Amino acid sequence: MNQPHTDKRRRICLLGSTGSIGTQTLDVIEHNPTLFEAHTLTAGSNDLLLIEQARHFMPDTVVIADESKLQHVREALSDLPIKVYGGEQALCEVVESDAVDMVIGAMVGFAGLRPAVNALRAGKPLALANKETLVVAGSIITALAAERRCSLLPIDSEHSAILQCLCGAADNRIEKILLTASGGPFRTMDDEALKRVTPEQALRHPNWSMGAKITIDSATMMNKGFEMIEARWLFGTMPRDIEVVVHPESIIHSAVQFEDGAVIAQLGLPDMRLPIQYALSFPHRLPMPGKRLDLFQLGTLHFELPDMKKFPCLALAYEAAERGGNVPCAMNAANEVANLAFRQGNCGFTQIPDAISQAMRNVSFVERPTLDDLFATDAEVRAYTQELLNL
Ligand code: NAD
Ligand code: MG
Repeated sequence: MNQPHTDKRRRICLLGSTGSIGTQTLDVIEHNPTLFEAHTLTAGSNDLLLIEQARHFMPDTVVIADESKLQHVREALSDLPIKVYGGEQALCEVVESDAVDMVIGAMVGFAGLRPAVNALRAGKPLALANKETLVVAGSIITALAAERRCSLLPIDSEHSAILQCLCGAADNRIEKILLTASGGPFRTMDDEALKRVTPEQALRHPNWSMGAKITIDSATMMNKGFEMIEARWLFGTMPRDIEVVVHPESIIHSAVQFEDGAVIAQLGLPDMRLPIQYALSFPHRLPMPGKRLDLFQLGTLHFELPDMKKFPCLALAYEAAERGGNVPCAMNAANEVANLAFRQGNCGFTQIPDAISQAMRNVSFVERPTLDDLFATDAEVRAYTQELLNL
């Protein structure tokens, strides 16, 4: 079979092991025990699941970011030879360990940026689900990966699809990326009804089961805006050459159009384990059990233009990409605040793009932000958006 020729298992540091991507990554690792080893597992605050995962996978190290849970995790694992650390600093240090062969960024939000930077600085191959890192700091991250000659691989299904379309075509110019979008749960809802949607409605995604934050981002289409920026950095394509195509069935995961007009697409059932596994085994493919795509059963696929009036977050992302500098960072920070406020019932659905738009207009512009500038922008915009939403 096409298995990679490794004489030892690849030791994985999995940031965000308790989340939706994290647990599915562990599933992939468990199905390929001769190839991968869960060396380090980290979580934000879900101590119970982290403990359960540690007892099952027997990693070398675990980290719980929420230090108030550290004592509990230590006690629960005291009978095992597992190193247990707590806090943000520890997250940044474990990625650098000589014993780690690859880092998987499956944390959610801006919190994933610093560990991703540290992983690359330490020369580790990095597979990123954590798209916010590329939205906020795409130029820094891609420059660092190039400088350290580290592979930077996407886990997001659309970007994995694009990477798969580009295999064997590295020297060919991309004319256009066709970035597909499900359109989320409110694609056909009218503007008035959209103002009254509840977090419960927004959390019911038609095709994918994901963490809460990205599910809301999918409902506002902020997620697709983020993905456009993510694609721009990963594949060196200008935002104007990335076209969002609403495709409600989520079967075509994205496509690339070349300068001879050929369009290459990747298709499959919506299942994140494929892009996760592909990032782990790249450039090889590994067997994957499970259901297969049945085109006869499917019958028809549909495509629509995105409605940027109804979903202004997508237009805001194009604007942020165009303005550049620290504006995408400001957009992300305002979105993190408004997204959480909406989930907690403290902000309406259509207030989310309003808050982002105001924050983008208000931010003090920095054309070539350093990492420190981005941390300052993130803090400034979070404070501004909280005040704006009376939080
Ligand atoms: P999730 O909320 O299910 O999991 C997030 C993980 O990060 C958890 O393990 C949590 O403990 C950890 N975490 C959260 N805040 C933290 C902090 N401050 N410090 C340390 N750890 C922290 O989210 P998810 O759906 O798995 O998404 C993870 C990332 O992958 C996001 O950036 C998302 O946009 C992206 N992504 C997710 C999917 C999906 O299908 N879920 C698909 C594509 C991309
Ligand atoms: Mg995606």
